[in-house]
Amino acid sequence: MMLFPHVIEISEGACARAGSLIERLRLGRKCALFCTEEIMKIAGEKVLDSMSHYRIDVFTPNSLEAEALRALGERLHRYDFAVAVGGGKTIDIAKYSAYLAGKPWIAVPTIPSHDGVVSSRASLSDNGKRISVTAVEPSAIIADLDVISKAPYRYIAAGAGDALSKLSAVEDWRIADADGKDRMHVIMANLALLAANATVRHAEQIRKKEMRGLEVLLWALTCSGFAMNLAGSSRPGSGSEHNFSHALDELGSKALHGEQVALGTIIMQYLHGTDWKRTKQIMKQLQLPTSLGKIGIDEKTSIKALVMAKNVRDRYTILNKVKIDEKNAKEILRNVGVL
Ligand SMILES: [Zn+2]
Repeated sequence: MMLFPHVIEISEGACARAGSLIERLRLGRKCALFCTEEIMKIAGEKVLDSMSHYRIDVFTPNSLEAEALRALGERLHRYDFAVAVGGGKTIDIAKYSAYLAGKPWIAVPTIPSHDGVVSSRASLSDNGKRISVTAVEPSAIIADLDVISKAPYRYIAAGAGDALSKLSAVEDWRIADADGKDRMHVIMANLALLAANATVRHAEQIRKKEMRGLEVLLWALTCSGFAMNLAGSSRPGSGSEHNFSHALDELGSKALHGEQVALGTIIMQYLHGTDWKRTKQIMKQLQLPTSLGKIGIDEKTSIKALVMAKNVRDRYTILNKVKIDEKNAKEILRNVGVL
């Protein structure tokens, strides 16, 4: 089964129209709104002003610990729906606690750093360890391009990096299909590729934070999320490059997800024999880091992550076809110039 948002609004000034957009969903009057103090000034107040006919309690998103979110889920039973105004953490907190309470939730993303907003999965902590759990898709996505344009550029570039990662993820799906491991759905694969290709074509406008570029980026991340929801798995948007990023996470990397998967993309495209040089060029254009050193990863950790990548989860990718040990890992990383 797949669920889609009933309302998607990606436009300038969208926060000020949040109330009338939410009205269409007929969700009731009692709303739990999640927003940090900082984001309240940038976007939360505009959303609150537009929802004057609702009874709203504001929750400050705090812990991502599963235990704390279960308690929060209990409190949400009293509300008709939740609204998350903010970045990944705020969205994951609202997404999971609303899911536990069986209530719909609305995403108002303020930072476009990855494609997880549309996803039914939430990323939480369990005693400090990152886990991915089942939750529910948003009933609406309201992205205000004026607000997004004020996000630090590093997060915007990271979002573009996550969109680019579909270039290798879809190749992985293709070989998994050819080897009889995982059937590829052409439409969903192409939807994911559409996200990557639109990002490639609009790289310059994204870098300049032009409204047109940001609009394309937000739609690209939304489409990539749709592709995953349609497939019922993250397969269309997450292949060997995400394995590499997960390995970096396990080794303690503090870089952004989108930065890591973009670097993973050029490594995996090199292994696939596809055009990694063009992707690297686009990354430069987007001002994404093009070496692991630039995101604080030393040579030893980089090699270890590439060796580990195949086994971080059960997903058939190019890493099942190319045997990687410490020696050739270094050579591969050198060949694509990321060391
Ligand atoms: Zn991703």
